[in-house]
Amino acid sequence: MNHSAFLLAWYIAEKRDLPWRKTGDPYVIWVSEVMLQQTQVRTVIPYYERFLQRFPGVEQLGTASLEEVLTVWRGLGYYSRARRMWEAAHYLLEQQGGKMPGDYEALLLVPGIGKYTAGAIASIAFGQRVAAIDGNVLRVVSRLLAWSEPVETSRTYRHFSDHLMAWQPALQPGDFNQALMELGAMVCTPTKPDCESCPMAQVCVGYLHGDVHLYPVKKLKPKRQVLTRLTFVLRRGDQVFLQKRPSQGMLADLWEFPGVEISQENGLDECVPVIEKGEFFGFFQEAVHERAFDGLVRKQFQQGLRMNGPVWYNFTHRRWKIIWAFVDLPTPLEPIAAAQKATESVDQRCWVTLQQLNEVALPVAFRAIVEDLTKRGSL
Ligand code: SF4
Repeated sequence: MNHSAFLLAWYIAEKRDLPWRKTGDPYVIWVSEVMLQQTQVRTVIPYYERFLQRFPGVEQLGTASLEEVLTVWRGLGYYSRARRMWEAAHYLLEQQGGKMPGDYEALLLVPGIGKYTAGAIASIAFGQRVAAIDGNVLRVVSRLLAWSEPVETSRTYRHFSDHLMAWQPALQPGDFNQALMELGAMVCTPTKPDCESCPMAQVCVGYLHGDVHLYPVKKLKPKRQVLTRLTFVLRRGDQVFLQKRPSQGMLADLWEFPGVEISQENGLDECVPVIEKGEFFGFFQEAVHERAFDGLVRKQFQQGLRMNGPVWYNFTHRRWKIIWAFVDLPTPLEPIAAAQKATESVDQRCWVTLQQLNEVALPVAFRAIVEDLTKRGSL
């Protein structure tokens, strides 16, 4: 038996019954592959079902507002994935008559679809012989080959791709690619590969040499930058103030409690940093784009603010130590609802109730603040 025979026999017997394995629809496979990036299968399933219910095809996705797409995605994290899919759906509607391209090369032309996703869609939906190499596959193949070079390089990619194409059968390329992903998820896991029950053990060079623990070899990563994120939670009556983040960069186009990144920390210091009273107001003006609040809150800043937290949140290249202060605005003369109703001001800023906070695309990073508000029972 060769690599593919071992792998496919195991896959047919052991594969999990996952919803996206019941379809050959390239759009549906695309949605599942994007959602599964950096996210566990069991987390993805309810989001996958909800997303497809609301956006069952390219047309529904491409004609929805970005706001709605981000809201349906809310809680799954890495929102740039949803934004890129929405942009790709626009491209497909404008350039491809709303149809997914039918082969690997054409899929690569769709903005946001990279080699891995194109390989997965082309092999699973169209039966095309092409590799689909993501982080899991890199790990598995590095062990199978006992590959002693860093896995992130283009040389490694080419080398692995050549091997995978040699192993991949002509008839079931999609099953082969999925089997490799399944092996990475279920057996050849990052920290505890179960070599004793692995179908590839007899052809796995890393295992046969007894040095599986050496692979994958990775380049040294720069340390995550640690920043304190000073956050202002503005309250007025039973509502709280949100503003929209810029369309570029981290957490693009999502709503946020306004704030600033104020300092670099060295370690896991759980203390709340000491901030001068005068400094607070400067930070407030930097964070909150609405200048009309300045006069209303200045006194609170002069008296000093009580900080809450910290809680920690990790991004790919950054670690936030989040601290927050409540800032109360007087209830205006005219009713709030008349000024701005719920999230209608989907412009750049809005006032929402605690309940409505669950309906807007607010990053998971702010979950602790929402929980704090919920615990207090009122805004
Ligand atoms: S034998 Fe071990 S290291 Fe090799 S592929 Fe299987 S689980 Fe991974």
